[in-house]
Amino acid sequence: MSTITDETKPSAQTDEAELGPNDMGTTGRDPQRIPLPEATQPLKIVWSYAAVLILIHAAALLAFVPYLFTWSGVILAILGHFFFGMLGITVGYHRLLTHRGFTCPRWLEHTFAILGICNLQDSPARWVAIHRMHHQHSDHQPDPHSPLASFLWGHVGWVVCRHRDLDSTSHYERYVRDLLRDPFYLKLERYRGWFFVFVAHAALITLAGGIYGYLVGGSAAEAVRFAASWYVWAVAVRTVFVLHGTWAVNSVTHVIGYRNYETRDNSRNHWLVALFSHGEGWHNNHHAQPRSAMHGHRWWEFDMSWWVIATLEKVGLAKDVVRPKLD
Ligand SMILES: [Zn+2]
Ligand SMILES: [Zn+2]
Repeated sequence: MSTITDETKPSAQTDEAELGPNDMGTTGRDPQRIPLPEATQPLKIVWSYAAVLILIHAAALLAFVPYLFTWSGVILAILGHFFFGMLGITVGYHRLLTHRGFTCPRWLEHTFAILGICNLQDSPARWVAIHRMHHQHSDHQPDPHSPLASFLWGHVGWVVCRHRDLDSTSHYERYVRDLLRDPFYLKLERYRGWFFVFVAHAALITLAGGIYGYLVGGSAAEAVRFAASWYVWAVAVRTVFVLHGTWAVNSVTHVIGYRNYETRDNSRNHWLVALFSHGEGWHNNHHAQPRSAMHGHRWWEFDMSWWVIATLEKVGLAKDVVRPKLD
């Protein structure tokens, strides 16, 4: 089953009488205010999600403590932004699992999915289901995270507020039946198995930091300092950075930027978001041609994730790569 088509076809339209003007720009589709999704009413915080996000942000703020600064931690954070963020989220969760913009061997697909989990952005199936729902209803009321409801809602509010439908069996049936045919993804759903994968990867990085610190510093005190530093930089700072990169695609690029295509939503292209999210900021191009594995459609629209996919294709690891129809 595939719920993704080349055209964005919101199945629910907002009530025009409820819409009013706002200050979100003048090009493309007239910016409108839309109500929050009905299934989020009355608003209720999901404390398990909120607490984890508060904790990871608090840990990231420890990067300002000089004692916890190590160059190895900083370098690992930067490398991790590419390794986990780009391969896991943009190439894996998004272009491969959500839109099937290319195919690859099962072992590689599962590897991308595991790397995606290491970004604390939910399980592959839940992420994909929510994102497919976003494409179906983009910037209309059922859209789970449209910034036209409010910018903060589109960025992070939707993550920490209860949405009655997102965990229902029928939601999974409707949006990710294809994915859940694979027992690998089903196992990650059960008992929140995916979350333990995230915890395990964080523990491994912290442990590796301790061993590295002992080897270069020669003392237990240095081992502890490096372990803490690698946790703060290579896990917390990197995770928070990737989180806000992904969230900015949902919020910023549905509000600010230019449009190459007249789509039925308010999606836009923004170079800064594209830079920090490995090409995902060319979001208007993406909404116009969701299945395309290439999001940068003009020569200056640099799309690093595309170059990774193109390289995988060259070495025979990616097949059936969907290219955009360009004028
Ligand atoms: Zn979008
Ligand atoms: Zn998408």
